[in-house]
Amino acid sequence: MTAFWTEADFDDHELVQLVRDRKSGLTAIIALHSTHLGPGAGGTRFWHYPDGKDAMRDALRLSRGMSYKNAMAGLPMGGGKAVILAPKNGIKTPEMLAAFGDAVEALNGRYVTAEDVGISEADMVSVARRTQFVSGLPVEGEDAAGGDPGPFTAMGIYFGIKAAVQHKLGKDSVRDVHVAIQGTGSVGGGVARLLAHDGAKLTLSDINHDRAAALAADLGAETAAADAIMGVSCDVFSPNALGAILDDEGIARLDAPIVAGGANNQLAREGHGQKLADRGILYAPDYVINAGGIISVTLEYLCRQHGEPCDINEVRKRLAQIPGRLLEIWHKSDETNVSPDVVSDRMAQHLIGR
Ligand code: NAD
Repeated sequence: MTAFWTEADFDDHELVQLVRDRKSGLTAIIALHSTHLGPGAGGTRFWHYPDGKDAMRDALRLSRGMSYKNAMAGLPMGGGKAVILAPKNGIKTPEMLAAFGDAVEALNGRYVTAEDVGISEADMVSVARRTQFVSGLPVEGEDAAGGDPGPFTAMGIYFGIKAAVQHKLGKDSVRDVHVAIQGTGSVGGGVARLLAHDGAKLTLSDINHDRAAALAADLGAETAAADAIMGVSCDVFSPNALGAILDDEGIARLDAPIVAGGANNQLAREGHGQKLADRGILYAPDYVINAGGIISVTLEYLCRQHGEPCDINEVRKRLAQIPGRLLEIWHKSDETNVSPDVVSDRMAQHLIGR
């Protein structure tokens, strides 16, 4: 594996740890980008990487992203991320999860883990048998924070879309505002329901067409083919499926004055935020608008650490701050002529003392 300090994505990470447990076969990387604001928090990904370098790149990039996301959400947490390198057979054993839990515990609270791609709530319960530094565990009761982050993420995006519509289109309501939603899973489906309730006009799309069609029938919405949704003429394009969709070609296809959705890492490369701005398209930085889930699981974790019940109203209060953060970014962007993604990165860097 290439030494990490030669990696383009190395950004003065405070700790990058390779974890190897011969007995269970676990190979993992834990990366702590910044603990300036608190313990590095971010999920664990279980993924088969063709090359160890790809795993390192993911750990480095995703942990930095978590520093920015947590800082911009006003959470007392830094940024960290772990990747478990899935073996060729793709099998994740209880022994691997136990060894991974021991590695997290050994960091003594500098890193707090949670679910990410390939890791379920049940897996986190296994990890939690070996370490207390875990969030995203199942919770009981409707008034508790934590558990499935999807609905909280959707709520934050809904607030963010309303702020974007106000800022860009001067409308106080989303009634009759046309929103094209890419991906109708946990997040996109939740966003669609909230917008439909307010009378927005929706076009839904998913590679699982039946899923989009069933939701559209329920909400009285239209559907579009997965390869057509980015070109739909609408007021808001809301990406809630894949990352890196905003590349040269994707941006050229857009026929919407606003892009606001929950998918992580929407901009394919640096400079694509400026390309959106050049086309007069307002962009809601992904890690700011999609922070609802991390707000919920972090508050769940902090309450559990203090042995207190977690009040869902505290989560709601913090979700309601997402539009204010976005407006601050857009106003600064308007004043300085710097694209919102870059404004946001600079604000986050300032918050983490960089
Ligand atoms: P999900 O798996 O529940 O839903 C994703 C949906 O997107 C699926 O229905 C899938 O069929 C669809 N999809 C995949 N490729 C597509 C394509 N090319 N075109 C249209 N649809 C496509 O996942 P989710 O939890 O809703 O997450 C969606 C996005 O939001 C991801 O990028 C995720 O990283 C991000 N995100 C999620 C959360 C959360 O709390 N769940 C938080 C922050 C960010």
